[in-house]
Amino acid sequence: MKSKTLVFTVLTSALFLACASGYAQNVKITPLGSHAGELCERDRATLFEDPTGVRILYDAGQSVTGGNDPRLGEVHMVLLSHAHGDHMGDRKLKALEAGSCEKVDTISAAPHSTTAEIAAAKHSAIMMVSPMGAFIARKIQNITGKPTDNCPEKGGVLNVPFAASCQANAQLGGSRILKAPGATAGVEITIVPASHDSTVSRELLTDPQKAALAVDNTSLYLGPPSGYVIKFTNGLTVYLSGDTGIHTEMKSVVGDFHKANLVLLNYGSSAISAYSATYAMNELIKPSAVIATHVNERATTSGKLRPESRTAALVKMQKRPVHLAISGRTMEFDGKANCVAGCN
Ligand SMILES: [Zn+2]
Ligand SMILES: [Zn+2]
Repeated sequence: MKSKTLVFTVLTSALFLACASGYAQNVKITPLGSHAGELCERDRATLFEDPTGVRILYDAGQSVTGGNDPRLGEVHMVLLSHAHGDHMGDRKLKALEAGSCEKVDTISAAPHSTTAEIAAAKHSAIMMVSPMGAFIARKIQNITGKPTDNCPEKGGVLNVPFAASCQANAQLGGSRILKAPGATAGVEITIVPASHDSTVSRELLTDPQKAALAVDNTSLYLGPPSGYVIKFTNGLTVYLSGDTGIHTEMKSVVGDFHKANLVLLNYGSSAISAYSATYAMNELIKPSAVIATHVNERATTSGKLRPESRTAALVKMQKRPVHLAISGRTMEFDGKANCVAGCN
């Protein structure tokens, strides 16, 4: 009897340890929106944490308060898909929970942008297409008073944390590997194409530049728009679509080559319709799961999808699980893109 109890104890302990170590292998994804517990009109910013501790912020946008946002914690890398104000962050939240979910209360983030503020405050690397990266690097310099140098790279690897903000910019198709102290594997980030625009908000330009553009009502283009593919150390491969219409590289680059198994989908009717987003998921990328963000509407009430929302119509059309990017809720994904905690 005693030995049976012992065997049982050993087995349950082994099972617990297996579960605990499995648990530790999850990637944590936390949307930083304007209103905790909801998916709101301006929500963009998303924080990723690899099991090894590497932390990446994607598209700081307007749903954060800037470099002082208490939800950020450590940020090793700041990614930016394109120059539009709702992504670069020409405005910022007046305060956490300011305004309502459908009409968020923001203040100007000029002249710096939330992207530059956060990268400066957190000593983060920036990785974005080179022309936009050079623009953000100058803004970081304007805050810190020091040039934003290239990130120190050793054997093709960027070791985090960094002593100061630095540039790891690249072109479409370029990639970088980020490694945490003591980790055996790194997180690989690749810039991938998007089909959109990447002109910068005039608010973030200096006065002479603003005036020159105003005369002809033109905008300044900061290189091609992009998305990203991030390969985490547990095998999870996430495609961050950026703002984009449907395009053929979704199949060749993102689906066939990178084999993304999770998509963070920017849904906004000026870029992609529910039908084309559905075709992209079902026929081109074929991920195991999707996270819906950038929905440009109040998609939830008390965290539940509003049945009359455009987002609800999109979700209904999908063949695979769609998780809502609920602000402040940390979702955990295993290497096969199963959401194992924190999903709806
Ligand atoms: Zn956008
Ligand atoms: Zn855009």
